[in-house]
Amino acid sequence: MSSSPLIDISSVAKTYGSGTLALSNVSTRIEQGSFVSLVGPSGCGKSTLLRMIAGLIDPSAGAIDWPQTQTRPKDIGFVFQDATLMPWARVLDNVYLPLKLAGLSLKKAEPRIMDALARVGLADFAKAFPRELSGGMKMRVSIARALVTEPPVLLMDEPFAALDEFTREKLDDDLLALWSSQKWTVIFVTHSVYESVYLSERILVMGARPGRILQDIAIDAPYPRGRAFRESPDFIRRCAQVSAALGEGMKA
Ligand code: ADP
Repeated sequence: MSSSPLIDISSVAKTYGSGTLALSNVSTRIEQGSFVSLVGPSGCGKSTLLRMIAGLIDPSAGAIDWPQTQTRPKDIGFVFQDATLMPWARVLDNVYLPLKLAGLSLKKAEPRIMDALARVGLADFAKAFPRELSGGMKMRVSIARALVTEPPVLLMDEPFAALDEFTREKLDDDLLALWSSQKWTVIFVTHSVYESVYLSERILVMGARPGRILQDIAIDAPYPRGRAFRESPDFIRRCAQVSAALGEGMKA
């Protein structure tokens, strides 16, 4: 590992006002340009950790530092399970929102919006309304909206969980293609062991009560990863390893 990670998470704990200890003593380093997944049972604090990295909530103890930039980057992309599009606004206006909030005119923003839409394969749908799109297309719009500010870090909280298997696999492939061309750092929360192994360079397996990191598993299979990887004995073996780590966590 390099001496200066992008994100340095040290001894982080989070207790909510209700008294729930959501996370306890979480320490890890996220390298610039890496693809890291968080997997673990519901309630183990995956979203809490993501929200703290985004600066939406503060840790109760410990620190999240950004050694390379000193401060948290202003533009962090966040993609949720629900596409959360404005139903009354066209695709173009939905993707425009973060730039509009940053004070950019639509005229100035339009090339960037069209570029973000092209990157997710929706260049022809700029004038469409969300109701005209499939679930997978809505999620692509949500990704385009996160990409339009060209964030160095993309935080994804179970983004494809509500989609059918086929669409999900397609979006996984598209996400990997974007990641390898854009070189962002991605932190991806998923319930799916298969999805985490397929996508990630590293998987942080978390356990609940209190939420903590149980294992840090490297997935050192080469990219690009395609169907051959999904169907290989190596893939199955790695999935079994992550499942076993999760199982240990459930017992603990
Ligand atoms: P995960 O994403 O792994 O399902 P969360 O981070 O959403 O887990 O939640 C971790 C724990 O913290 C759970 O017990 C949850 O009920 C609790 N929690 C999450 N958000 C809040 C909140 N805003 N107020 C109080 N408790 C919360």
